[in-house]
Amino acid sequence: PVSVAGHIANLFGARQKKIEVRAAAGVDLAVLPGEVVGIVGESGCGKSTVARMLAGISSRTEGDILWKGVSDRAMTADQKRDFALQVQMIFQDPFASLNPRMQVLDIIGEAPVCHGIIPASEKRAYVTALMEKVGLSGAYADRFPHQFSGGQRQRIGIARALAVKPKLIICDEAVAALDVSIQAQVLNLFMDLRDEFGLTYLFISHNLGVVEHISDRVVIMYLGRVVEIAPTEALFSDPNHPYTRLLMEQLPVLEPGARDYQPIRGELPSPLAPPPGCPFHPRCPAATARCRAEAPALRPIAADRLSACHLNDRTAV
Ligand code: SF4
Ligand code: MG
Repeated sequence: PVSVAGHIANLFGARQKKIEVRAAAGVDLAVLPGEVVGIVGESGCGKSTVARMLAGISSRTEGDILWKGVSDRAMTADQKRDFALQVQMIFQDPFASLNPRMQVLDIIGEAPVCHGIIPASEKRAYVTALMEKVGLSGAYADRFPHQFSGGQRQRIGIARALAVKPKLIICDEAVAALDVSIQAQVLNLFMDLRDEFGLTYLFISHNLGVVEHISDRVVIMYLGRVVEIAPTEALFSDPNHPYTRLLMEQLPVLEPGARDYQPIRGELPSPLAPPPGCPFHPRCPAATARCRAEAPALRPIAADRLSACHLNDRTAV
């Protein structure tokens, strides 16, 4: 597995007042319930790995995930179950993540019945109500996934996640496979549901535009490391890290109909064998000899802002 050394998450502290993602030793990002944190980086930068580790799906080489103050390595069976239900993931591919042989009634209704969240007798009413919440007709509960469009399938995936009453939803490229017009609809649905269900989101995307649209705070990742964290407005008005700036220069504002950001020139090295020193130095226009030898730490550069770049030494706070 990709090592994401130093990425330690504390999901809902002991008092459940905040979610903390520790991005480097001694540095915490505290997220209030209801907030949306975007995690951005190119494909292969380790975003999905981090997401899957936070959801407890992937193993990891270092770090702890704390849920209500308890490390997942030390959880009792009950605590593990609580964690598995309250942290839900929504994946990129709504085709692959739904069992083609199951009716929507069971796709959405199986887990809440199985976990005693609702009695079996209420399954159909519960499922149809959830379908309506995500913009699908409850009359389609007996249909199979192939009878729905891509956008509708992603709505089924969202209803399935909501069915177990999660606190935190981790979306991994959750709209990337959808047409642009459908993307906006699904993003708006996420925001409506946040308000209605009091959800917190970790929203992982390679698309800075998607993240700008919905995030309160943005985490920029490069090669398995966090390189910058900032409130969304501050990040977009005044990006600090050279990698963040390069990402923003890729905004295809002059290309109508462009559905994605252009990749940055130069190859993305493997996260398994990152370059020495600052991992971004082979592609960084501002790299110096120091950058090739010494990795910069993620450090505060302003209130609520962190960045990992030697250039900030001049202005460090
Ligand atoms: Fe560029 Fe050096 Fe900053 Fe890395 S530490 S981002 S190479 S200037
Ligand atoms: Mg990915």
